[in-house]
Amino acid sequence: MSGKITATCLCGAVRISCGEPAGAGGYCHCEDCRKSTGSAFGVNIPFEASEFRIISGEIRSFTKTADSGNELTRHFCPNCGSPLFGTSPQHPGRIYVRAGIIDQPSLVRPASQTWCESKVEWSTIDPRLPSYPEGRP
Ligand SMILES: [Zn+2]
Ligand SMILES: [Zn+2]
Repeated sequence: MSGKITATCLCGAVRISCGEPAGAGGYCHCEDCRKSTGSAFGVNIPFEASEFRIISGEIRSFTKTADSGNELTRHFCPNCGSPLFGTSPQHPGRIYVRAGIIDQPSLVRPASQTWCESKVEWSTIDPRLPSYPEGRP
C-alpha cells in the first residue's frame, strides 16, 4: 500500500490524510471490534502517527481496556457514527485506521487475522492468512 491515502466518514464531515502505512494490517475478530463496527469483524490498517493528519471534522472517542489488557481508544464521527481509527498508549507511534473509511479501498490488503478464538461462525476469511487465537504474538 502506498501513495496518497485519504479517509472520510459516512457524512463527510471528517476528512483524514492518513500518511504512510506502517504495515498491511489485518482482520480482528475480537468482540470489541464486532460491537464497535456492527459487523462480523474489524479491519484495521496501521499508519505512522507522525504523518497522520485530521483535515476537518470533530471527533469523539471512547476508551476501554481490551481483552489483551491494553487500553484502546476508539475514535468516531459524532455526527454520523462512523468508526474512524483506534489508538493505544501501548503503541504511541501508530494509528489504526478502520479500513472501511479509506477512500482507496483497492489498496487495502489485510495480511493476517487476530483474536480468532472470538470469531463468529458467520464470517469466513481466507484460511491461508496467518491466524492468531489472540493478538499478534
Ligand atoms: Zn461523519
Ligand atoms: Zn479487535
